[in-house]
Amino acid sequence: MLDFTLSESQSKLRERARQFAITEALPAAWRYDEKDEIPLEILDRAFDAGIMNTDIPKKYGGLGYGLIEGALLTEEIAAACPGLATSIFDNSLGFEPLVLSDKEALKEKYLPRIARDNRRICFATSEPLMGSDVAGIMCRATKDGDGYVLNGTKYWITNGGVADYMTIFATVDPEKKHAGICAFIVEKEWDGVRTGLPIPKLGQRTSNTVGINLKNVRVPGENVLAEPGEGFVLAMRTFARTRPIIGAFAVGAARSAMEYALDYSKRRRAFGGKLSAYQATQFKLAEMYQKVETMRLLVWKAAWEADKGLDPTISASIAKFYATEAAVQVINDALQIFGGYGYTRMYPIEKLLRDTRLLPIYEGTSEVQRIIVAGYLLGSYTSIMPPLDEVPILIGGGDVLEEGKAGSKTAWRCPLCGYVHYGDEAPEECPYCFVGGRGFKKVWPK
Ligand SMILES: Cc1cc2nc3c(=O)[nH]c(=O)nc-3n(C[C@H](O)[C@H](O)[C@H](O)COP(=O)(O)OP(=O)(O)OC[C@H]3O[C@@H](n4cnc5c(N)ncnc54)[C@H](O)[C@@H]3O)c2cc1C
Repeated sequence: MLDFTLSESQSKLRERARQFAITEALPAAWRYDEKDEIPLEILDRAFDAGIMNTDIPKKYGGLGYGLIEGALLTEEIAAACPGLATSIFDNSLGFEPLVLSDKEALKEKYLPRIARDNRRICFATSEPLMGSDVAGIMCRATKDGDGYVLNGTKYWITNGGVADYMTIFATVDPEKKHAGICAFIVEKEWDGVRTGLPIPKLGQRTSNTVGINLKNVRVPGENVLAEPGEGFVLAMRTFARTRPIIGAFAVGAARSAMEYALDYSKRRRAFGGKLSAYQATQFKLAEMYQKVETMRLLVWKAAWEADKGLDPTISASIAKFYATEAAVQVINDALQIFGGYGYTRMYPIEKLLRDTRLLPIYEGTSEVQRIIVAGYLLGSYTSIMPPLDEVPILIGGGDVLEEGKAGSKTAWRCPLCGYVHYGDEAPEECPYCFVGGRGFKKVWPK
């Protein structure tokens, strides 16, 4: 049964996030963007307002919400500032592998601290020489007693400079690729952990992105999150749950740009009329709205699958690459409606464009999502229609396929151009593409 109605608690949650977005996030967004600094005070207030870490199970002191709720919240925060949304929801990316793991003692140790004590946790697969190809991790994990020693550098790590804990993916042997990947919960204060300067970025300047250097960092056995061979799958299962949320960032940012463009088009006059009176503007607005609605449906579907306990991998990839690319298009169109003013820093569009341009890149680029979806299509998708050479094509055959009718004949299909020949025997050769008749396949009667 399909139902898009939000429950009362979901509506309340969305309202709370909306209020937070308008009263807390929006006024701070440009100030921190200009400073190129993460607004930690706003993160703390998001924690207090109960719109952070929402998917930590109740058992560990969390709110126990699902991904649908995560998507609702994220859309609202991203509508005010996509960079801040990244900063807030990166915690969920950081602890998601822990929630998904079967390491009960680790969960009991860290999840309550995150849920109750406002501790931050980041997620690190990427490295200076590797991002898309997660199996290509080079950060080394060397067995040491019951634990491991880590050496290497992780790069592009959101919240890395402000996190208390780090979910670090490493390998026991780079040659082993997927089979060597393992994961650990590392504490920032441990010996050998260093974080680099914040990386200067085009957008999302209200999020903190750094490199993390690990030099002979000893991880005790109890902090092993995934043994060698289990880490890659854990990272992929994590992404399947976090990619819909990146899609929700896109929905929020695009929705804002559309609303700002709508407003502007009703104020600005050109050639004697308001921009909104011209069909060229109206069509742009209509397409922007169409995209926002489509993005949200895909995001909700992927989130719904995750909440139902289904594997959301494919829907998550589709939602991510559709929504994030569509958002860039919507915001670009909004900028066009604003004309020259859209290109200035006095209106909100340029920041939305800068912030949103990251979305088709992190947590798996658009190309990676296409690789995943294409792999599914070519590998395990089950077609509903019959194979091509079993499709009854009537061209030139008229009623001959109706059994029992006078003139009913055998039908033969050319394996190359698809021509259907009617007669007791296959033709000597295809009259269209000249393939020999021996290749013709009898397609009727079956
Ligand atoms: C601001 C920011 C925040 C980030 N936060 C985090 C974080 O918190 N944690 C973390 O681990 N990582 C993080 N990342 C890293 C991010 O996930 C990677 O940048 C991303 O996965 C792409 O990796 P890459 O930059 O190394 O690009 P590469 O993997 O080098 O790819 C470069 C280009 O080649 C394309 N490409 C690669 N392989 C193929 C292929 N087989 N076929 C077709 N095209 C291909 C890619 O799609 C891309 O367009 C962040 C990045 C940024 C910029």
